Amino acid sequence: MSDSPATHSITLTETGGPDVLQYGEAERPTPGPGELLVTTRATGVNFIETYQRSGVYAVPLPFTPGAEGSGVVTAVGEGVSGYAVGDRVTTTEAKATYAEHFVVEATRAHVIPDGVSYETAAALPLQGITAHYLSTSVYPATAGDIALVHAGAGGVGLLLTQLLAAKGVTVITTTSSPAKAELSAAAGATHTIGYENVSERVRELTDGVGVNVVYDGVGKDTFDESLASLRIRGTFVLFGGASGQVPPFDLQRLNSAGSITITRPTSVHFLLTPEERAWRYGELFDAVTAGTLSVRIGQTFPLAQAADAHRALEGRKTTGKVLLLPTE
Ligand code: NDP
Repeated sequence: MSDSPATHSITLTETGGPDVLQYGEAERPTPGPGELLVTTRATGVNFIETYQRSGVYAVPLPFTPGAEGSGVVTAVGEGVSGYAVGDRVTTTEAKATYAEHFVVEATRAHVIPDGVSYETAAALPLQGITAHYLSTSVYPATAGDIALVHAGAGGVGLLLTQLLAAKGVTVITTTSSPAKAELSAAAGATHTIGYENVSERVRELTDGVGVNVVYDGVGKDTFDESLASLRIRGTFVLFGGASGQVPPFDLQRLNSAGSITITRPTSVHFLLTPEERAWRYGELFDAVTAGTLSVRIGQTFPLAQAADAHRALEGRKTTGKVLLLPTE
């Protein structure tokens, strides 16, 4: 350990189960040119960190997870303009936010609007931007469309359902329990169903026609039923694999399923320019401050208990957003 001030963080030195997430003292990062040092107030937990922890996505070890977090600017790197110590910021494009301090490029931070809490500001970015780009850019759903959204009570699910319902889209969601179905319905789902016989239920609810679009973040377990739920020329948006990654797939199946369009998008490709970032954050935070978009924080855990947060997320025990809060 050098003379730099200390911080605490979660680090993994090997991939594996949640227990590899170890809490301990670490060196506080220093902001380089163009960067901000942020004292963390809340860290957003996202499913991708479970893929990194378990080895599904390769990461260099030792590794501190986390791309999302909110907090107070504590130091400003050389050449940064537009930010000062004391500013309240949030981001989903930092590194190592499972920590009491993190560094972020100033151009990838967003000022938290007045009246929005640090918790909400850490909860919204990745799941909100995902719901936003899925519904505006990947398949820009319009009034009259019917959409199937899996994991309707999850973080992305609750936000995506609200954005779609606000456009006049009929939303069918899947959830694994009555309590989750209730949350999903409150977010605007027209119909909530379980994960059994999904395509049959969808056909019943759509006069046999099927849905215009499936937004599927569950992946392996839902893939076949999602494909069978689409109408002719429907769009399959596969955006995650909470149940596992979808195995290699014969493209010819898209022909027999009805000339289906399929896409596998990821958020970095929908935050390409400062203008695109400002547009998506702007619309989301405007909706939150106007009271038309509700951000549910289902669970919070102390930073030191990040392993429990992963257990809950992978164990389907969570609803809405999961946050880590600094232990101090
Ligand atoms: P969620 O809060 O939606 O949690 C995942 C949910 O998936 C669970 O709560 C559970 O809901 C459902 N699920 C179904 N089967 C399983 C299973 N076998 N194991 C675990 N969960 C299961 O997570 P997020 O909102 O953070 O993310 C949702 C998906 O979106 C993830 O796949 C994630 O990787 C992806 N994602 C993709 C992004 C992109 O840009 N492509 C960006 C952000 C997230 P239930 O109990 O109701 O079934």
